[in-house]
Amino acid sequence: MKEKKIVIVGAGIVGVTLAWFFATYSDAEVTLLDQKQAGSGVSQHSFAWLNVSYGRPDSYQKLRSKSLNEWRRLDAEMHGALKIDWRGAISWQETNAETLQFIQSHSELSFNVESLTKENLAKKEPLLDKAPNVVAFAGEEGAIDPIWVIQTLLQDAIKKGVTYCPETEVSKILQNESGQTIGVRSQDKDYVADKVVLTAGVVNKDLLQTINIELPLASLPAIIIRFKHEKSDQFAQHIISTPEMEIRSIDSEHFLAAEDYIDDTAVNTPELIALNALKTIQAHFNTIAPALASSITVDHVAVGMRPIPFDDMPIVGTMNDDSGLYLISMHAAVTLAPLISRLAMQEILYEQESPELFSYRITRFQ
Ligand SMILES: Cc1cc2nc3c(=O)[nH]c(=O)nc-3n(C[C@H](O)[C@H](O)[C@H](O)COP(=O)(O)OP(=O)(O)OC[C@H]3O[C@@H](n4cnc5c(N)ncnc54)[C@H](O)[C@@H]3O)c2cc1C
Repeated sequence: MKEKKIVIVGAGIVGVTLAWFFATYSDAEVTLLDQKQAGSGVSQHSFAWLNVSYGRPDSYQKLRSKSLNEWRRLDAEMHGALKIDWRGAISWQETNAETLQFIQSHSELSFNVESLTKENLAKKEPLLDKAPNVVAFAGEEGAIDPIWVIQTLLQDAIKKGVTYCPETEVSKILQNESGQTIGVRSQDKDYVADKVVLTAGVVNKDLLQTINIELPLASLPAIIIRFKHEKSDQFAQHIISTPEMEIRSIDSEHFLAAEDYIDDTAVNTPELIALNALKTIQAHFNTIAPALASSITVDHVAVGMRPIPFDDMPIVGTMNDDSGLYLISMHAAVTLAPLISRLAMQEILYEQESPELFSYRITRFQ
C-alpha cells in the first residue's frame, strides 16, 4: 500500500506532537513546515499547566483528564525525557462554596481532587500565608516546559523520519478543480500531500481565508511573566491557582505567572500588569517570609496570542467536504496535544471517525 504523504503546517506543541505520533506509529511520509522555528508561536509563552479545567461540559473535562493520562503514556514512551512536572495543583475559587463545588464536580468525573486542611496546606506550601479555609488539591495535574518538550519530541520525530522545514512560511493551500486540497505553497515551492494538516495556531484562520473558509476562532492575548528569586521553588512548590494569581516555579531561581491581558491603554501595559502581579504574589507570602517576598523581581514579560474557538471547545477534523484538509485549532492545546494528536493520527491514517471527536467538528458552527 502506498504510504500516505502528510504535510503538517505549524510546528507548535500541536504540530510537533502530531508529527511525533505519525513518526512513531505509522509509515506515513511526514513533512513539518514552520514559518520560523518550532515553538516560536504561542506555545513558547504558555503557562503550560496540564489541567482538567472547571465549569465546562463534562465530556470536555473528561477529554482533558484523558489527555493527562496520554501525557503520562507519551513520557513513558520517551523514557521520561519530557521531564513533566507532576507536582499537582493547589487552587481555590472566589468562595468556599465554589471551591467545594469544584472538588465535588471533579470527584463526580472520577478525577482525584481532595480538600486540604490548613495543616496539609502548610505542609505543601509552607511560605503561603494568605489562603481561605477551603482549598483544593489536584495531585494528578502537572506542567511542562513547552520549549523543552517541543524540541525533545521534534528531535525524536526527525530521527524517526519526519522532514522538518523551518523558515518555510505557507502562503497558499493548493486545491484541484474539484476543491480538494492537494498540498500547500511556500515561497515558490509546492508541497504535495494526501492530507494537509493545519496546526498553525492563530494563523489557521488566515490560511483558511485563502480558500474562503471562515474559521470561528478568536486570537486573544494573555500575559506570561517570569519572576526571579534565588529561592523561587520555595514560593510555589506546586502549581497555585487562585482568583488573584496563577503561579508555578520552573526552576530554583524562576517562577512563572499567567495574567489576563486587559487592553492596550498606558495603564494596562504588560509591564505594569507584571508589577501588579508582583504585589499580589508578595501579599500572599508576606507574613511568613517578608524578606524573601520583598526580593522577588520581574525577569521577563511576554504576550502570547491564544487561538480560542468561539465556543472555547476544540475544532478538530476534516474540513467540510475537502478530504485533503484536516484542521486542529484549540485553546488549552498544551493540555490536549497528545490525546488530540493520537486521535487525529488515527482518523487521518484509517479514514475512520473517532467518536471522541464528534462534538468537536467545525460543522457545529454551521
Ligand atoms: C499566557 C498563556 C498561558 C497559557 N496557559 C495554558 C495552560 O496552562 N495550559 C494549556 O493547555 N494551554 C495554555 N495556553 C494556551 C496554549 O499555549 C496554546 O493553546 C498552544 O500553545 C497552541 O499551540 P499551537 O501548536 O496550536 O500553536 P502555536 O504554538 O502558535 O504554533 C503554531 C506554529 O505555526 C507556525 N506558523 C504560523 N503560521 C504559519 C505559516 N503560514 N506557515 C508555516 N508555519 C506557520 C508558527 O510559527 C508556530 O510555530 C496559554 C497561553 C498563554 C498565552
